[in-house]
Amino acid sequence: METYHLIVYGCQMNVYDGEAVATSLQSVGLRETEKPEDADLIIVYTCTVRASAAERAVGRINALGALTRDAPSKYLAIGGCLPQAEADNLLDACPDVDLVFGTGQLGRVSSFVDLLETGGGPYVLVDETEWEPSVALAARTSPVRANVSIMRGCNNYCSYCIVPYVRGQERSRPTRDIIDEVDELIQSGYKDVTLIGQNVNSYRDGGVSFAELLRKIDALCDGAFLRFTTNHPKDMGENVVGTMADGRNVARHLHLPLQAGSDRILAEMNRGYTASDYVRLVDNIRKAVPGICLTTDVMVGFPTESEREFEKTLTLVKKIGFDGAYTFVYSPREGTAAAERPDDVPPEEKRRRITELIKAQREISLERNEGFVGREVVTLAEKLSRRADDETAGRISENKTVNFPGTYAPGEMLPVKITEASSWTLRGKVIGTTGV
Ligand code: SF4
Repeated sequence: METYHLIVYGCQMNVYDGEAVATSLQSVGLRETEKPEDADLIIVYTCTVRASAAERAVGRINALGALTRDAPSKYLAIGGCLPQAEADNLLDACPDVDLVFGTGQLGRVSSFVDLLETGGGPYVLVDETEWEPSVALAARTSPVRANVSIMRGCNNYCSYCIVPYVRGQERSRPTRDIIDEVDELIQSGYKDVTLIGQNVNSYRDGGVSFAELLRKIDALCDGAFLRFTTNHPKDMGENVVGTMADGRNVARHLHLPLQAGSDRILAEMNRGYTASDYVRLVDNIRKAVPGICLTTDVMVGFPTESEREFEKTLTLVKKIGFDGAYTFVYSPREGTAAAERPDDVPPEEKRRRITELIKAQREISLERNEGFVGREVVTLAEKLSRRADDETAGRISENKTVNFPGTYAPGEMLPVKITEASSWTLRGKVIGTTGV
């Protein structure tokens, strides 16, 4: 085997896992190909958070099976959350697959090559092994932004969520390994580092809490933005808020999932906080870090959600004034507690609620972004803009995308004056290249 092609679906954790898979395969000499048809090993790294995502991945795997079916030296593998949830069914659903591996197998991906070449599959590997290897710089998908995994799994069992079943219980990565990985990234010119985990606030390695980890990493990140996600409102303590306020490099942005504005629905979701707990936390964060931008996740149409309860969500979203929101329509995920209940909000009602929510959030996002017009902001040049060849797309501490004329090297920190805003992005112009 000389080459591989990797397709990754899903969240930031999966992107990170995909980079770890690439690192392992490159460490045993495999090269990545642009097209699946040129690869000896095709890996689809899957997401199962929604039933539709799982179905899409299975469809793609079966289409790719045509490339490996009659080629004895070509192999097809499925990794990620879907195998972790449904390993046994997968071999029936995807008959061309040679290897099924779960999220706990990242530490042994390099051994897959020998295993497959020995023959005798298909193999199903879904047990937990040790922590995954650090992602090598060469396998990072961006030259300036990087995710660093600090913990995996989740103990929260929100009633709609499959993650604790497929990613297992919380495990924190050793602090020393995280420090080494971030240090290497910063020394190599990375300018935007995100610590990731399903619930980063639960991080603990011996005596090191998440707030302490954040403080240690902040000290390494001079000249770079330091971010972390995902946070759980019930676990985000004052010490984390204090570290955000004191940190020299902690970005002025926080993603804090709300999910719903009704206390009854929050309890049904098993979220562990009330709407007023959430508002109090946001007030504290805004006091500690004035001007911070907040984004969130909101779900509509959870079983038994009444019109009045949806209105509570809408009212709270407007009251808090998030900079952005990922909005979701509830759909049952087999294996979760909520899926045992009737999915009783009619589809047309779910559609109406999500449309109303998206419209409201779009207006709020526009208003929040318009507040940047006229300001000068330090902007990290990331890549050429998708809009035009002679334009650069960058990112600011508040995690907003800024497009500006001119071609700048990825990694440059530029002073940019914001001239225009839409609901999604900002537009500006560079006002000098020194003094930042
Ligand atoms: S906190 Fe809740 S929604 Fe987030 S991963 Fe854990 S169970 Fe899922």
